[in-house]
Amino acid sequence: MKKMSDNLAFLSNPPAPQSSGISLCMLASGSRGNAIYVSDGRTAILVDAGLSGIEIERRMKSRDINPESLDAIVVSHEHEDHIRGVGVLSRRYNLPVYISAKTLAAALPLVKSIRKTVLYVCGASFQINTLHIHPFSISHDAADPAGFTITLNQRKIGIATDLGIVTAMVRHHLQSCDLLILEANHDPDMLISGPYPWHLKQRVNGRTGHLSNQDSRILLEEIQHDHLQHVILAHLSETNNTPEKALAEVCQAINPLYTQLTVSSQDICSQLVLLNSSPSESLEVCNV
Ligand SMILES: [Zn+2]
Ligand SMILES: [Zn+2]
Repeated sequence: MKKMSDNLAFLSNPPAPQSSGISLCMLASGSRGNAIYVSDGRTAILVDAGLSGIEIERRMKSRDINPESLDAIVVSHEHEDHIRGVGVLSRRYNLPVYISAKTLAAALPLVKSIRKTVLYVCGASFQINTLHIHPFSISHDAADPAGFTITLNQRKIGIATDLGIVTAMVRHHLQSCDLLILEANHDPDMLISGPYPWHLKQRVNGRTGHLSNQDSRILLEEIQHDHLQHVILAHLSETNNTPEKALAEVCQAINPLYTQLTVSSQDICSQLVLLNSSPSESLEVCNV
């Protein structure tokens, strides 16, 4: 495992926290590529690597994150927008790839060889060094799609994109998170009246498609709590949604006194979000 201290020469402005908090960066989110960087200063992972390897490296470096500091890649499902850079990054940085057996079988034609695979099973937690990760099944048109919670000390991050419906299991795992990355894929009116062919509208809107802005709002109304510090809306459609529509719908479900609401982008990686480990410390967004 590489330590953050190994990278200090590279980092002109090293991302805090270095000890016990979690830092997170949405490197990309949407149908043209997804990748989330998560680190507690001792362990650094990517959840999905759906851009080219070179573009993921470029975006990490733009936030002063050294790709050499990565310890692993965790894959949610085999759609190309989630795995495009997995093979390249795995081979270039000697990274193990955590993936389910069915997803691996479906992903292999695209990712080719992987340096090392570690198979996970939805419902069974696993540990990557200091990070505790729990994959759970979601409803999506892939072989074995997964959402994740990542916990460190008493802090919990929930990640759920690419899901057609909110099941009781999804609701269960996403409750009591400190930070949520949640899909808000489309505005239903824009989808219905938009340019997609009928079969694609059916797919997006179906039980194995994607969550609408309204679906996200309803879920958040159910699981909102005072310790939910940040909600990041993700996987927005560029054709059937706008950041303004997503924010306007979902903000109805959250209390702005406690919860910050932001939207992630396809083309620009997010600011670094810092989630401190002590419950007395609040979340901050680092202007880098
Ligand atoms: Zn996707
Ligand atoms: Zn997908």
